[in-house]
Amino acid sequence: MNPFSYVTATDPAAARALAAEGAKYLAGGTNLVDLMREGIETPERLVDIGRLPLAGIEDLPGGGLRIGALARNTRVAADRRVRDRYPLLSQAIVNGASPQLRNRATVGGNLLQRTRCGYFYDRHSACGKREPGAGCDALDGFNRMHAVLGAGESCIAVHPSDMCVALAALDAVVNIAGRDPVPLVDFHLLPGDTPHVETVLRPGELVTSIDLPPVPPGHSAYLKVRDRASYAFALVSVAVATHLEDGRASRVRVALGGVAPKPWRAYEAERLLTGTSLDDHLIDRAAELALADARPREHNAFKPELARRLIRRALKGALS
Ligand code: SF4
Repeated sequence: MNPFSYVTATDPAAARALAAEGAKYLAGGTNLVDLMREGIETPERLVDIGRLPLAGIEDLPGGGLRIGALARNTRVAADRRVRDRYPLLSQAIVNGASPQLRNRATVGGNLLQRTRCGYFYDRHSACGKREPGAGCDALDGFNRMHAVLGAGESCIAVHPSDMCVALAALDAVVNIAGRDPVPLVDFHLLPGDTPHVETVLRPGELVTSIDLPPVPPGHSAYLKVRDRASYAFALVSVAVATHLEDGRASRVRVALGGVAPKPWRAYEAERLLTGTSLDDHLIDRAAELALADARPREHNAFKPELARRLIRRALKGALS
């Protein structure tokens, strides 16, 4: 591990000033410390933001909820308001990592965690996310866990978060100190030619909280398929939320995880289903639409069909 200095931030402005000079934010450390051990991240200075007053969960006028960036994943999942009004979020968080990690990990860190692509962690492999312009050994390598949607030829890594998939389906908004809020669905970037640029955050910017708008009551579900029963990243996950009025869906949200470089909203599937009675036939068509642009690689050809099946199962729960 490279030598680094460590400083504890006492207020957000001081933390941002240090980060603007190149320091790296440290919160729960559940991803960053691993990356430093592997030599993937080599910050010269860490600014510990763990004591900043950004861990609260508070009601917003109109029925929404604001979750501080430093709120621990365990606390968010267990919060009575989250469980009652946003059960999708609770389910997704509990499906991620292990209890020990959830006790440490923060909401902001969850948002900003790096991919678990094995080539990214192996410094002997070519990886343009780790080293801009270096190429990508995953393209023709063992790409079973990799993306089938939204990727290009520069990087096919997936975003590893479960929580963010639920946030995408809940129309969450990311609050960033000193600038306008950013919808969660726009916060993460597709790789394009710059796979090392993963979010809209500029150097030194600090995520302060996430806002959840009020969600009308209805059916929601988070389904995740993975190689082990726990403590494993998604092969595919699906978050759905529907609201029916007089037997017709006035609101449909479908988000996918494990298939794209960012939490992936299936907008065309949502449009097809909105205003309908969500019958079996339409749900089948929506699942097809959601994966119509899938471009599997040699080892992940199973993902599109797995995603279609999960979408169907999650949405048909709304009919039962
Ligand atoms: Fe690196 Fe992305 Fe290729 Fe993985 S898929 S090796 S993270 S460039």
